[in-house]
Amino acid sequence: MQPLEVGVFLCSTGIYDPFAAVAKLKELGIRACQLPPLPPDFLTEENARKLKAALEKDGITATTQFVGFPDESYADMATVAATVGFLFAEKVPERVAITKKAIEFASTIGVPAVAAHIGFVPEDTSDPAYARLVDVVREICDACAAKGMKFALETGQETAEEMKAFIQAINRPNLGVNFDPANMILYGKDKPVEAVGVLAPWVISCHCKDGEWPVEEGKLGSERPLGQGQVDIPAFVAKLKEIGYTGPLTIEREDGDDRIGDIMRGKALLESLR
Ligand code: MG
Repeated sequence: MQPLEVGVFLCSTGIYDPFAAVAKLKELGIRACQLPPLPPDFLTEENARKLKAALEKDGITATTQFVGFPDESYADMATVAATVGFLFAEKVPERVAITKKAIEFASTIGVPAVAAHIGFVPEDTSDPAYARLVDVVREICDACAAKGMKFALETGQETAEEMKAFIQAINRPNLGVNFDPANMILYGKDKPVEAVGVLAPWVISCHCKDGEWPVEEGKLGSERPLGQGQVDIPAFVAKLKEIGYTGPLTIEREDGDDRIGDIMRGKALLESLR
């Protein structure tokens, strides 16, 4: 894997069997990927060993394991607030247990980091949910640290300054961010290129995704193929280089009916910029 290697978020292929998706990446000439949230039942040692073998056979490096949970939905702002992450005390034990299974799974494969959407971090730091999130993320960071791994927060559901303050409150050396520039726009939160500067010390990995600002109250903005939205992808990649980022440029494409075509056009764009 080269510095700024162009990778793909495995689920963005639209192929949900991870083995078939890895085979597709090999066919496309992709050498880096992030592993998607996988069903909790799939997170066994046997499956980890099989997936590790498939990745090695095809010469693909998995750089992050994402974690997601049953019953999450990103349909609109209110649904995200009501279903995503660790905000709901009654769901925290089950979701922490799933995260720990994913850490074990990723460790068996040799993936160096786990990442997740943790839910909207409350703007009011005296909200009891804020302290609860701090505790949960510390527990997850410590579980990752025990395996020599990092934990990355997916960006974009809060401003860069709010995220920075939250990371400082958690105060764990193995905590960072998976910087998603489009999310900052889709959730109407922040200007992504400037935000890279604010979060520079914590950027472990990134999503190369594009999108447009929301136009309707309560709805997210629209995802767009890479280079066709309002992120300014050339400026985003230039900013990553300016802060000294050398990890993979991982394409995320979760919308549209030509995912593979969009991925390949995105790859060509990123290769002209890296
Ligand atoms: Mg993302």
